[in-house]
Amino acid sequence: MRVLATPKIVEALTSLFYPAICVGCAADVERSDYLCADCERRAPRIAPPFCAKCSEPFPGAITQTFRCANCEHRTLHFDCAVAAYRSRGLVRKLVHDFKYGQQRHLRHPLSRWLRQSLDDPRLRDRRFDLIVPVPLHPTRERERGFNQAALLAELLGESVRIPVRPVLERIRYTTTQTAYDRAERMENLRGAFRLRKNRDVRDLRVLLIDDVLTTGSTLSECARVLRAAGAVSVHAATAARA
Ligand SMILES: [Zn+2]
Ligand SMILES: [Zn+2]
Repeated sequence: MRVLATPKIVEALTSLFYPAICVGCAADVERSDYLCADCERRAPRIAPPFCAKCSEPFPGAITQTFRCANCEHRTLHFDCAVAAYRSRGLVRKLVHDFKYGQQRHLRHPLSRWLRQSLDDPRLRDRRFDLIVPVPLHPTRERERGFNQAALLAELLGESVRIPVRPVLERIRYTTTQTAYDRAERMENLRGAFRLRKNRDVRDLRVLLIDDVLTTGSTLSECARVLRAAGAVSVHAATAARA
C-alpha cells in the first residue's frame, strides 16, 4: 500500500507521538494551545495610537484620528490595513520559521493573531462577502511548497465562516522588495497581479489577507486590482505588521 504523506497527515502523526510543546519556548502546553501564556504575553501587540489607514503605531499621545508618514502622501488602495501584532521578537521569529522553515503548523498561532485583527473597531462591525489571500507567483509557491497567506486565510475563513477564494493571481515574478524604497516598490509591483479567469468580485466586500504588512505596497496593489474589477470595498488584515 502506498501512503501519501501529505503535510496534514505528517502533522497529525507527529502530534500523536510527540507531546505538545510551546512553539516559542518548548514549555509543555495543552495540545490546542501552541503558545504558553508567557510567550503569548511576550508577543508585541499594537496599541493605540496608530495610523487609521495602515496601523503604523505612533509613540506618544494622540487622541484624534491621524494618517502616518508611511501613507499620508501616497495612494493606498485598501480602505485600511489592520494588524494586532508587531513583527518583532517572537512574532517575527514565528512568521520567519513559518515561511522559510517549512513549519506549516505555525499557521495555527499565526492565524489566531490574524483573527485578533478582526476585533479592531475598523473591522469589527463590518460584513465581508469574501476572504482573498495575497497570491504568490506560481514559481515561488512551488519553491516554498505553499502560499503562507492562503494557509492563514483558510483558517481564518473557517473560524469566521466567510468563504475564502483565491481570486487573484501573481503574474510577474518580482525580485525581492527589500532593496527598494516605497516609490520603487509600488512601481515594481505595477502589473504584478490580476484577477483570475472567470472570477467575479463585482459588488463584493473583500477582506484581503497577507502574513505581514511591511510598507503596504503589496496589499495596495492587490486592492487596486480588486477595486478595478468591481469590489465595493477592500479591507486588509495581516498576522503582523513591520
Ligand atoms: Zn512559551
Ligand atoms: Zn499609515
